Amino acid sequence: MKTIGVIGGMSWQSTRTYYDLLNEMVAERLGGLHSAEILMRSVDFAGLEAAMQRGDWAAIESRLGDEAAALEQGGAGCLLLCSNTMHKLYDSIAMRLGIPFFHIADTLGHALAANGLQRVGLLGTRFTMVEDFFATRLRDRFDIEVVVPGDRQIESIDTVIFEELCRGIVKDSSRDSYLEIMNDLASHGAEGIILGCTEIEMLVKPEHHVLPLYDTTLLHARHAVEWALSGD
Ligand code: GLU
Repeated sequence: MKTIGVIGGMSWQSTRTYYDLLNEMVAERLGGLHSAEILMRSVDFAGLEAAMQRGDWAAIESRLGDEAAALEQGGAGCLLLCSNTMHKLYDSIAMRLGIPFFHIADTLGHALAANGLQRVGLLGTRFTMVEDFFATRLRDRFDIEVVVPGDRQIESIDTVIFEELCRGIVKDSSRDSYLEIMNDLASHGAEGIILGCTEIEMLVKPEHHVLPLYDTTLLHARHAVEWALSGD
């Protein structure tokens, strides 16, 4: 089994989901007491979040690039960056790495394409929904069109992520508001919904909505486990 490198802490609420998923999937595949080989750096999110809010992406790029390089030097065989938003910096981090670096939107794109979806709704941080690094990748590589919520809805989704989910707070009222937004996306032709922030699966589960949900945390972790066990 190969070692999965993980940069977590963004937020740690979703990193623990990754940790559970990686181990559960390996145990399911190999049985017995098997668990995943993981090398993790979990960072303090407060400083990075503040840098995001003031638009200092250069500081984040330098920090995450250093962490990625350290994981490679420490023996990680691949890298998972456990945040959709931070994939805005994918190219510059990838330049510093010689190991496979699994883009979260690619693991998603493969799943959407395999199920024949062409138009999907996107929920995530405002960076992920408004900037083009995520939707453009799905369009260019997988020919999938992304539908995003309206401006006020984007604000409210983003607030729930940073004020609640990243702090471990899960509220029924926030779930209701997400479900309403998902209904709107469905009425705009979305055939499925991307949970494009690694914490959203804490709030919205497949049984909550009729549309199929594409949980980026699950798909990203599954891809890494397939890689880790390949060739064994
Ligand atoms: N975990 C988040 C994501 O998947 C949001 C926190 C962050 O900005 O890194 O986008």
